[in-house]
Amino acid sequence: MSGTVLVINSGSSSIKFQLVHPDTAELVAHGLIERIGEPDGHIVYNHSTGLVDRNLPIADHRDGLKLVLDIVAEVGRPLREAGVIAVGHRVVHGGNVFSAPTLIDDAVVAEIADLSALAPLHNPANVIGIEVAREELPDVPHVAVFDTAFFHTLPAAASTYAIDRDVATANQIRRYGFHGTSHEYVSGRAAAFLGKDPAELNQIVLHLGNGASASAIKGGKAIDTSMGLTPLEGLVMGTRSGDIDPGIILHLNRNSGMTVDQIDDLLNRRSGLKGLSGVNDFRALLELVDAGDQDAKLAYDVYVHRLRKYIGAYIVALGGVDVITFTGGVGENNIGVRRDSLAGLGRLGIEVDDALNTTKSRDERRISAASSATAVLVVPTNEELAIARAAQALVFG
Ligand code: ADP
Repeated sequence: MSGTVLVINSGSSSIKFQLVHPDTAELVAHGLIERIGEPDGHIVYNHSTGLVDRNLPIADHRDGLKLVLDIVAEVGRPLREAGVIAVGHRVVHGGNVFSAPTLIDDAVVAEIADLSALAPLHNPANVIGIEVAREELPDVPHVAVFDTAFFHTLPAAASTYAIDRDVATANQIRRYGFHGTSHEYVSGRAAAFLGKDPAELNQIVLHLGNGASASAIKGGKAIDTSMGLTPLEGLVMGTRSGDIDPGIILHLNRNSGMTVDQIDDLLNRRSGLKGLSGVNDFRALLELVDAGDQDAKLAYDVYVHRLRKYIGAYIVALGGVDVITFTGGVGENNIGVRRDSLAGLGRLGIEVDDALNTTKSRDERRISAASSATAVLVVPTNEELAIARAAQALVFG
């Protein structure tokens, strides 16, 4: 069935939305609401005839989504009349319950709400997005697409933390992984780019944005990923620490009396690039590095060192790698990170071509040398399109 899919990504303090044609990938309209609950709320809406850009306080997610629908109706047709064939909702945590896109009914909403203990900032916001959208668009199917679903296939050796099994089970502790929609989409595009069946390939995908994660994918199925029970584990990120010795948490609590909430704030919002250099945005970091700032240089080095460790681990976990793909704002744009994270790996059959790596492009492209046994690609991610396609496929087959 043709028509557009409304994709809603209702995050902890923002809501992103898109109207997209799943077949053609045509983006009909898209927008963003930011700083929900703060005095300087902001909405931007791009549509075929122009741009709406307003600053106004937005009390909560419910008000935010209603505002989106009002503005869509104000500048064009109300969404109910705009030929929307389905609504795709990004849901962060599917726990052990959801392993694939799922048609939403009241029971599914209740299960997503029940999983809030695992994602306290995200799942409640996802639930509100779903509730308001179902009220406003009651006649179209709504589909939940889970960030964790692609990693449902992780072997037990990769998903199990080596802690007391009873404690782990009682608290639903395992590696779930996140950014799954992106890792699945990008690995599929990488295989298509190479003209190969995903079943034939050992892949590493590096999703490097504000949040960052790596995955090892064998024959189209994820066998390991760097994020864990929460999106805090793994690579160095804009404001998140990624891997640390868990003993640091105990030490901070015992030695400096920091509370759990203070440590949560430290590791999620005041660590990573920001904690090391004062800035979380990679472009700002590079400007500081260029200006000779030593803290920024160390932050860059720590970021790249961690990335190289994961790449090495995943090459071994996979038993060799056919293709390494960079995606996300940093992975798609940052020449230095791509070069430095794979530098000196010629003996492993991995060679980035300097000229290809430095050529600017928004397209899917190969940046490895012709002599490189492993293909190195840059593939722009498109989670919204992947969600729209997943929703369409579930509803219309
Ligand atoms: P999110 O995880 O919020 O979706 P993105 O994937 O948009 O984040 O990535 C944001 C990051 O990408 C920021 O650190 C930003 O500085 C970086 N980035 C975006 N464009 C460029 C660029 N041209 N060069 C270097 N870094 C970039």
